[in-house]
Amino acid sequence: MDRDPQTPTAEPELAELTRLVREFSAERDWEQFHDPKSLILALMGEVGELAELFQWIPADGAVSRFADPARRQRAGEEIADVLVYLLRLADVLGVDIAGATRAKLADSHRRFAVDQVLGTAPEKA
Ligand SMILES: [Mg+2]
Repeated sequence: MDRDPQTPTAEPELAELTRLVREFSAERDWEQFHDPKSLILALMGEVGELAELFQWIPADGAVSRFADPARRQRAGEEIADVLVYLLRLADVLGVDIAGATRAKLADSHRRFAVDQVLGTAPEKA
């Protein structure tokens, strides 16, 4: 690959990122390791690394603590790791992650009308 992945293109961003992650994997012949189960385990590992950054930090102090640039950068790195594996999983499964997310948001808008849930946490039915 001869293009800088930090330079955006006109391609929709999630589609572009999915393609960049696919190309990164293919260039290293790592696609052979990217079965859904292995990708889910890798994803969970990265979620664990993200959660570890917040371990033992009181919930009401987390936002201010991560306003620190170094901590925010670390959180960003782990969030990016999570997204990379999530994009790769969706790609391997043939899931249109942007379309699926839009569909879920539309469903959430229907299920949680603002005038019915304003200021209250949703409950599991
Ligand atoms: Mg990580």
